[in-house]
Amino acid sequence: MSELIKTALVTGGSRGIGRACAVRLARSGYQIYVTYVSKPGPALETCKIIEESGGTASSFALDIGDHQSIVDFFKEKIKDRVFLSVLVNNAGRTMDGLLVRMGHEQWDQVLRVNLSGSFFCLQQAAKIMMRQKTGRIINIASVTAQSGNPGQANYTSAKAGLIGLTKTAAIELAPRNITVNAVAPGFIETDMTAGLNQEVRDKYLSMIPLKRFGSAEDIAETVAFLTSPGASYITGQVLGVNGGMYM
Ligand code: NAP
Repeated sequence: MSELIKTALVTGGSRGIGRACAVRLARSGYQIYVTYVSKPGPALETCKIIEESGGTASSFALDIGDHQSIVDFFKEKIKDRVFLSVLVNNAGRTMDGLLVRMGHEQWDQVLRVNLSGSFFCLQQAAKIMMRQKTGRIINIASVTAQSGNPGQANYTSAKAGLIGLTKTAAIELAPRNITVNAVAPGFIETDMTAGLNQEVRDKYLSMIPLKRFGSAEDIAETVAFLTSPGASYITGQVLGVNGGMYM
């Protein structure tokens, strides 16, 4: 097992926070596996950025809203093929709407991707890391899981669930030397926030004591720290990376 290449798997590593995590973890020396759901181009671009800096990276299509696809992916690409040092459960989506108008699909899709998908990836990774007797799992949650956010009953519920999952998984996996932590970003400049109008952006900015939106690299640095030797005694924690924002 030790001759397998140390690998960090970043779900949704094609763009935004996931890409920044992938690029940063490559600098820490891991082989990088990124997944995407719909856009192969940006995922290939992530790999190109890493390879141009001397790293190794591959991209894979994986819809984390589909349980069987996750099982197949870990069986075919991860188990006995790489040493799974790190899982960053980053892939996520929003489908906003006020709760009284929220349709069943709108609720179900967001829970399925952000919570169930992250759980099934964590479950598959845990089985492999338990045999390895080491591993780091980082779940990308959100400040809104802790504060609530109008129009995001589905998303905030999923991210709050992810925090609960982080704490339970941390306890269950600690005996096998696997740490599980969550990073809760505030407002980060990515495609996910690009569509918000100026009024909404101004409202969020007024709530941020550091008076700037976060960058994907701000999150990636925290994720890299949680995979480092210096973080070996940290588990079950939620690290807010939000410029001091508590809504
Ligand atoms: P983003 O730019 O919209 O990128 C989303 C990523 O997730 C893409 O790689 C996308 O793949 C992938 N993805 C979406 N649905 C998927 C599915 N069903 N299966 C697999 N992959 C899927 O988002 P981001 O802003 O970087 O956010 C990354 C994470 O941080 C998310 O979990 C988000 O909830 C969380 N977060 C973001 C912010 C923020 O302000 N941006 C704040 C708090 C938390 P494709 O490229 O193929 O579409």
